[in-house]
Amino acid sequence: MLTIFNNIAVKEFHSYFDSESKCLQILAEEKWKDGFVCRFCGHHHYCEGKKPFSRRCTRCKKEESATAHTIFHHCKIALPDAFRLVYAVCNTPTVSTLELSEQLNMRQMTCWKFKKKVMNCIDARKDVSEQGKVELKQIILGIDELSQG
Ligand SMILES: [Zn+2]
Repeated sequence: MLTIFNNIAVKEFHSYFDSESKCLQILAEEKWKDGFVCRFCGHHHYCEGKKPFSRRCTRCKKEESATAHTIFHHCKIALPDAFRLVYAVCNTPTVSTLELSEQLNMRQMTCWKFKKKVMNCIDARKDVSEQGKVELKQIILGIDELSQG
């Protein structure tokens, strides 16, 4: 499903990530694609958490949300909008926050803050990406892999 992620056209992208739950589902699928590992105790078994698509360790009962340890953690923007912003910035890093705010119908300051976060993530990855191009998927799952690397 996510193999089309990088070359996906803007229209498809918007219709694909059109709801909060779709975004959460993608984040959950991607971050736990190699299976669930509890960050607190290393246990592999989980049950559903309280929040949609979050997972709760069956041993220590700690819950991890789908957005935890991703660029969307504590993100105040609705996830579909946040996904769109990441997409726009990855495709056109020179896009202005004014353009973003018009495109996404969000406050410019909100766009500025989140764009900065995305750009930090892109900058941190530049040396590891091929031809200087940063994969959208890497940014969306962002930060976490960075801290592990
Ligand atoms: Zn645990």
